[in-house]
Amino acid sequence: MKLLQNIVNRLRGEWALSIRRQLAWSFSLVALAIILISGYFLYSYQRHFQYAQGTQSAQELAQALAVSSTSWVLANDLVGLQEILQGAGNVAGIRFIVVLSPKGEVLASTLPEYIDRYFSDAISQRLLTQPAHPQILQDEANLIDVAAPVVTGNRLAGWVRVVLTRDKANANLREVAVAGFAIASLLVLMIVLISIWLAGRLTRGLGRLSDVANDAEHGRAFRREDSARPDEVGVLARHLYRMLDAREAEEKAKNESEARFQAVFNNAAIGLAQVSTAGRFMQINQAFCKIIGYTQEEVLLQDFTFQRITFADDLAADMNYVNKLRSGELDSYTLEKRYIRKDGTLVWVNLSVSLLRDDAGHPLYFISAVLDSTEWKRAEEELKRYKDHLEEEVQQRTNELVLARDAAEAANRAKSVFLSNMSHELRTPLNAILGFSSMMHLDKMLSEDQRENLDIINRSGEHLLTLINDVLEMAKIEAGRVQVEIAPFDLGNLVRDVTDMMHLRAQEKGLQLLIDQSSEFPRYIKGDEARLRQVLINLVGNAVKFTPNGGITLRFGMKPHTTPQRLLIEVEDSGIGINAADQLRIFDPFIQVGELSEQQGTGLGLTITRQFVQLMGGEISVTSSPGAGSTFRVELPAEEVEAADISRPEKVEIGEVTGLAAGQPEYRILIVEDQLENQLLLSKLMKNLGFQVKVAQNGQQGVALFQSWQPQLIWMDRRMPVMDGLEATRRIRELPGGKEVKIVAVTASAFMEQRAEMLAAGMNEFVRKPYRFKEIYECLTRQLGVQYTYADMPQQAEDVRLSAEMLAELPSPLRRELRAALESLDEARINAAIEQITDARLHKTLSYLADNFDYPAILNALEPDQMVNVI
Ligand code: ADP
Repeated sequence: MKLLQNIVNRLRGEWALSIRRQLAWSFSLVALAIILISGYFLYSYQRHFQYAQGTQSAQELAQALAVSSTSWVLANDLVGLQEILQGAGNVAGIRFIVVLSPKGEVLASTLPEYIDRYFSDAISQRLLTQPAHPQILQDEANLIDVAAPVVTGNRLAGWVRVVLTRDKANANLREVAVAGFAIASLLVLMIVLISIWLAGRLTRGLGRLSDVANDAEHGRAFRREDSARPDEVGVLARHLYRMLDAREAEEKAKNESEARFQAVFNNAAIGLAQVSTAGRFMQINQAFCKIIGYTQEEVLLQDFTFQRITFADDLAADMNYVNKLRSGELDSYTLEKRYIRKDGTLVWVNLSVSLLRDDAGHPLYFISAVLDSTEWKRAEEELKRYKDHLEEEVQQRTNELVLARDAAEAANRAKSVFLSNMSHELRTPLNAILGFSSMMHLDKMLSEDQRENLDIINRSGEHLLTLINDVLEMAKIEAGRVQVEIAPFDLGNLVRDVTDMMHLRAQEKGLQLLIDQSSEFPRYIKGDEARLRQVLINLVGNAVKFTPNGGITLRFGMKPHTTPQRLLIEVEDSGIGINAADQLRIFDPFIQVGELSEQQGTGLGLTITRQFVQLMGGEISVTSSPGAGSTFRVELPAEEVEAADISRPEKVEIGEVTGLAAGQPEYRILIVEDQLENQLLLSKLMKNLGFQVKVAQNGQQGVALFQSWQPQLIWMDRRMPVMDGLEATRRIRELPGGKEVKIVAVTASAFMEQRAEMLAAGMNEFVRKPYRFKEIYECLTRQLGVQYTYADMPQQAEDVRLSAEMLAELPSPLRRELRAALESLDEARINAAIEQITDARLHKTLSYLADNFDYPAILNALEPDQMVNVI
């Protein structure tokens, strides 16, 4: 039983092993089954056929005997009957033939022993009861037993019973079976062979594919076949090769990436190590080897753990982190620790470790990155030392800086003090020089020579004053003490003043000084009048200075379409010009260019000019070509205002003062001044006018004299020994009558801000040294209302009235010329036209208006029915 089981199992195993076998077996078995079944059917058919034939011949025989026996039976001729039977008894295969009476008596038989006997067996009994038709009594494998009735008319006369053996049929059947078996065996053999061949053929492609797969699996070379086949094997082959190709490419990429990774790993600049979960090194790179001083073989071959090379003091911290990694509390950590190198020395490293896990989350191995931080540590310590040192240094520097700053502040203060001292020291004697030379100039007794010498003194003094002013102005700018003072002013007036002032100088050099006819500018604007005046004086002064012949043209205008409005000024000369390189330098302090030998000045004029322009919010530029002249261009914010906006100081037109007008009170004037020259100058000036004068040497004397003498006005010097002007003023204001007395400071100080100080001390006004006599006269008029007599009294402004009638008296050609000249804005032409007028009063009025550029007033009066008031 067990053996059978084994065999079945073996077969089953074999069966499962190969599709070829399965196919061969299947084909064979199916063929065998078909052969067996068809053999069986053939055989059955044959037997049926043989038996049926036997039966039929038995029945035919029985029928023939029944017919031939009839007469014999009727005749009861038993012998004849016997003979007939005997005749039939030779037929092959007869077992016996009998003729029976209806009662079952054997009338004749091929077997003599049956004669005269009665058949009493069951089959015979059944026959006797049957109707008179042919009967099959037994039909068996070895015999056939049939009966046919012997009939006369309608009466049954007996039965003929024939029993035949089937020996012949059976012998035939055996032959058929033997032959059939032989053929079937042959067929089976053939079919088995064919099956094997067919199965082999059918599965050849598959077998090859399977070999290919097997070869590929084991990395052996294989041949690509069958991929061109159109059938399923071809499809399968193509899929397989594609799969193999893909696998190969993937493998290659993987290998490359692996190689790359290995290269990166091995050559990384930082130490890298792959460490098992047990702490053993699995892979390390060169950099790591270098840090710990072991070779790769030493670390990887032995059972080498990271614990072994970790410095004992750092191990606990490291293990603590490792445990946290294992438990999943951390993904990675970094740590500064020490390794023990092979030579026993310690090395500081910066370590970063992370734990790699598989898809299920189980720890695989650690990856460590290690950086030698010895140098870094050293640098850090160095840095710390350096930082400490630096802090010390900074502290020291700060102290030094504080000292330096204090020193600088002190120096600055010293500079300011020096400047005010210088200003005082220089201006005070200059006041005397200028004052006395001016005063002497008035002396009618002077010879022409003396007058010329005096002029030289005066001009030199004026020049010196300009220089001092420039230097001081520059110092003030540098000290940030200059502020612009914006107020509405009369630009027309300013332009006239400056041109007037410069006219003389230009004339002396034979130069023309012109205002461009196309100039159009508002008469009243808002701006810093004093600074703008200075700018104009500097530019025109330079133009005159650096122009040997030709002329200077001034151009004024408003920049179109700008808000806020901007004033444009151009000063163009036909002078020596400035080359391109120098144009960039001339605005720097103390720069003088060119070769003009008689060049005068400080080189500060343009510096100051530019500073002023910039302070006013404007720009200055120059265009020039050497030999052809220069043009300086200034652009400034200048808002146009109405005449009514201008608060004009009480301005008194003063010609050359000759004395006091009649009918004025007696004035007592006190001069408080320590400097002898200035005392003399001022007291002489006062006395010349006819005032009573007393002089005090210092503030204290001044206060005393005020009390005893009660002057109406005091000229108070600011700086004096014993008591200065400020203190003296404060004291006087405290005294009875001290509120009423006018006190005017006379100061050589350069700084405007001291003005506030002086006003606060109680002074009414101040005059700066060196002063012009005119300033003194004007001041007296303002403070005391003093009236003078003049050498040449100008027409009082209020009387200047120009009416159309006055002009109507002029001859028509002259009127036309005047109009044309005015319209052309040509100053020289206008003046020439006015010169032709003989009426002194009209001449003067027109000159006044023309000088003030009030051309519209004259033009309006040239129109009939117009009356113009001139202020
Ligand atoms: P300075 O007081 O010497 O005039 P500035 O600063 O006013 O000083 O001028 C500097 C220099 O620029 C002058 O020395 C002169 O060489 C040159 N410069 C100024 N204006 C003119 C001009 N209109 N034409 C030619 N050169 C000029």
